[in-house]
Amino acid sequence: MMKPKFRIPLKLKLFLPVTIIIIIVVVFLTIWFINKSISSFENHIQNNLELEVNTISKMFERESALKLEKVQNNLKVAHSYFFQTPLIITSDTIHQIVENQKNNVKHEAVLNKWYHNNKLINCNNDFVDSLESVFGGTISVFQRIDSGFVRISTNVRKFDGTRAVLTYIPMESPVVNAIMKGEKYYGRALVLNEWYTTAYEPFYTGNEIVGMLYVGDKEKDMSELTRIINTLKIGKSGYPFVFDKHGNFLIHPESNTTVFEDEEVLKKIIENKEGVIEYKQKGKTKTMAYKYFEKFELYIGASVVNDVESVEFVHNAIKGAAIVGLISILFLLIFIYRFTSEKLYRYFNALQVSNKKLANAELALKHSEKLANMGQISAGIAHELNNPLGVITMYSNIVLDELDENDPKRQDLQLIADQSIRCKNIVSNLLNFARKNKIKVEEVDIYEFIQKTLNSVVIPKNVKTDINCKIKNKIMMIDAEQMMQAFTNLEKNAVEAMPEGGTLSVSIEEENNSVIIYFEDEGIGIAEENIEKLFTPFFTTKEIGKGTGLGLPLVYGIIKMHNGKIAVNSNNNPENGKTGTTFMVKLPRIN
Ligand code: ADP
Ligand code: MG
Repeated sequence: MMKPKFRIPLKLKLFLPVTIIIIIVVVFLTIWFINKSISSFENHIQNNLELEVNTISKMFERESALKLEKVQNNLKVAHSYFFQTPLIITSDTIHQIVENQKNNVKHEAVLNKWYHNNKLINCNNDFVDSLESVFGGTISVFQRIDSGFVRISTNVRKFDGTRAVLTYIPMESPVVNAIMKGEKYYGRALVLNEWYTTAYEPFYTGNEIVGMLYVGDKEKDMSELTRIINTLKIGKSGYPFVFDKHGNFLIHPESNTTVFEDEEVLKKIIENKEGVIEYKQKGKTKTMAYKYFEKFELYIGASVVNDVESVEFVHNAIKGAAIVGLISILFLLIFIYRFTSEKLYRYFNALQVSNKKLANAELALKHSEKLANMGQISAGIAHELNNPLGVITMYSNIVLDELDENDPKRQDLQLIADQSIRCKNIVSNLLNFARKNKIKVEEVDIYEFIQKTLNSVVIPKNVKTDINCKIKNKIMMIDAEQMMQAFTNLEKNAVEAMPEGGTLSVSIEEENNSVIIYFEDEGIGIAEENIEKLFTPFFTTKEIGKGTGLGLPLVYGIIKMHNGKIAVNSNNNPENGKTGTTFMVKLPRIN
């Protein structure tokens, strides 16, 4: 019995490499796609940050422009309010110590007494205080002195809380320059460490500039800006913030954060003024866009925590790509399976089948070559035997004719004559076989025929025979004489294989218009390596004199002449179960 070997089916063999290649390609594409998406996502985040920073910078600009507008309006209001009541300038003077606001140098100056609303204006704050209640900010009235313009009334306070009266703007300052030309002056001024948007306007007595009005407002309203900026968010983790050149956060959603952890980062920001930078804060890597807003001397920044933003995105990208990847693998596989592998499979299968056929044909050719060889030999022998046998037959008959009816030798002579005729028949049969003569078919009841074949074989007592006919239509066309030779040979072999006894069962079955006859014995079986040699002429395992090795080749020839098939299945190893051999003969009903 052949042990079945594990083999990968051809279909799978073809499909597997294609599948692996597709999976590799799709996985590769998916990874590429994810990488691409991540980098474009990072760009997107960076753009968002820069956009945010620019938006806030524009907001700052707007804030600054609004402040200027406001201050210009305030100056108009101050002007009309101030000149509603006449300003009376007297020639009375007072001596007072004034202080240069630039270099803080003090000196004595002579100031005229001015009356406004019937009150001495010098150091009287009614006007500025009532205006402050109208529009806020800072308001001052300046009187011209020799060294500049001195505040004679103001709501601007010094550090100690007292009003900054009697401080003066020196002659050489840009403000005084413009005012002395009769122009209004708008600008910025650092007042007590805060930048103010300022507006100045001169006023006259006759043609002479004698003083100026001033209004100012804090350049930036930090509380309002903070409120707006703190409502802005970027992605999940991002927010904008504002800091100064020392890294102090002026606006920041986390109130406890005051300075940059990393001084190098701050250095770079101050150097570049505008850009994008990666940095670490509290162990997290962040990306930040920044821009310097010169007017306010502040830096605007916007940052996100890289991981927080990308992790979710990467998750989604992977999920999406994986789904798309899987679906495309599936579709590709179905497509390939349907259109390529199926065809290839058929092609290779056909190739395999034709290879098998070729191998069979080769085997058949070998057999027929051997048979032909044997045929030639036997034809030669038969031919040589034919003449002497003819002489024996002829002369035994002549002598028989000459003998008296009651002669005692007559019986022996008759035997010689009969047996020599039998020999002639065998020889002519051999010649037939050798020439592969055509068969002469006749109608035969196959069941009865098998019975007849078994009857003509000598069967020892310890061997039982048994016929099992499973077909209804037992009539078929065969060359009975030749088939008798074939079947008796198979039966003899079976009996000879059972020296210890057993059963020879012959079963007759039908399949696709062919009759199949199984000769099954319980004998010693055939060694695997001998199976191939069975139909080779002169192959025998039996002792000299007992076996000739011509039985099965003859059987093969006869079956082939009937367009039939013969196959063998055998087990000679008791470990694999009961030993025995089955010869299968398949004969088409119509040859
Ligand atoms: P012979 O019978 O003269 O040996 P065959 O051609 O009839 O020649 O058989 C060839 C060989 O095949 C036999 O020697 C035997 O080894 C083997 N053989 C054939 N039939 C059987 C069988 N039924 N059981 C076991 N061996 C068999
Ligand atoms: Mg034999």
